[in-house]
Amino acid sequence: MMSFSGLRIYTYYRGRVALYALLRALGISKGDDVITQAFTCVAVPEGIMATGARPVWVDIGEKCYNMDPYDLENKITSKTRALIIQHTYGIPADIDKIIKIAREHELCVIEDCCHTLASKYNNKTVGRFGKGSFYSFEWGKPIVIGIGGAAVANDLQLRKNLEDQYDSFVFPSLRNTIKLQLQYLIYQLFYRPKLYWPLRRLFHISSSFRLAEGNYNPIQELNKSKDFSMKMAISLQKRLARKKRKLNEVKSHSLYATTRYRNEISSAKIEHPVVSPKCNVIFSRYPINVEKKTSLLLGAKKANVELASWYSTPVHPLSLDKLSLVHYQLGSCPNAEKRCKEIVTLPTHFAVKKRDIDRAISFLNEFYS
Ligand SMILES: *Cc1c(COP(=O)(O)O)cnc(C)c1O
Repeated sequence: MMSFSGLRIYTYYRGRVALYALLRALGISKGDDVITQAFTCVAVPEGIMATGARPVWVDIGEKCYNMDPYDLENKITSKTRALIIQHTYGIPADIDKIIKIAREHELCVIEDCCHTLASKYNNKTVGRFGKGSFYSFEWGKPIVIGIGGAAVANDLQLRKNLEDQYDSFVFPSLRNTIKLQLQYLIYQLFYRPKLYWPLRRLFHISSSFRLAEGNYNPIQELNKSKDFSMKMAISLQKRLARKKRKLNEVKSHSLYATTRYRNEISSAKIEHPVVSPKCNVIFSRYPINVEKKTSLLLGAKKANVELASWYSTPVHPLSLDKLSLVHYQLGSCPNAEKRCKEIVTLPTHFAVKKRDIDRAISFLNEFYS
């Protein structure tokens, strides 16, 4: 059985399914509220809503990408049962403050570690602070296996509950697994930062025709998808076990890329991320706040430079008129809404070679010169 830092890993079809499994194992269901941050992706509220619970949205801080502990206090009510701490782009959240508030209100804490397996806070790896944590291994994550997620429990009772319910999840169909294997093969063969824009387009078109398994379910299937009944295929579990052994290389490559971005991208129009001295960050992507985001992205597409826009809405990729489907009220998290208009992220993953980093740096410096 697979383990991570000595703890057993429970693998599921996607990261959001792992979140759903954790919440269900905590006894969360209809009538409960689960707090999560705006500036996230729809996978998170989907996982919450699949249990029957309702997501409640907390804003991010004014200068960061993670939950604002002050806004958190305002949003807790007698219905709040659990809280998800997201470590966006791999930057650990303000864990001390958030955990203290959670204790005072007797909330269960789950950490969303989809962007990092290795960042540290007070010298302790993220994912070890709450009752449990969950991970994702899809295309944009630090370890890519295709599609997949995992849950880890730090709490004995929670682990027992996860174990007891694990057999109720079924394996995906053979057809689905073959489709994913083909997608992975194409990704392995063709993906490189220079081809980011055309491949992204191809991926979006083929997933809209269901030729490829997309990152997001159709809106009408939100949180009702059969994804929530599935665990990870054996072939993908094997790939995960293999790739997990390369975590140290993933870490050092990310450090190399981020150090260069931080030192060599210099413009008064670009803000680099601020990181607390308590944190040791392994970035999954390197975020910068920029002016003129839309035209910068257009320029990057023309120049074939990989630059991602997420999160482009407070609950990515839902457009503003769809946010009410996940109980998000427009205007309720102003910092998150503002950040969506100025964020772009640079890749730090393995396929980014020295020349890609050189190109990205000179593209940005020239764009703002
Ligand atoms: C990717 C991601 C998830 C889970 O994604 P899945 O597609 O369900 O594996 C959850 N939270 C965040 C912040 C993510 O980026």
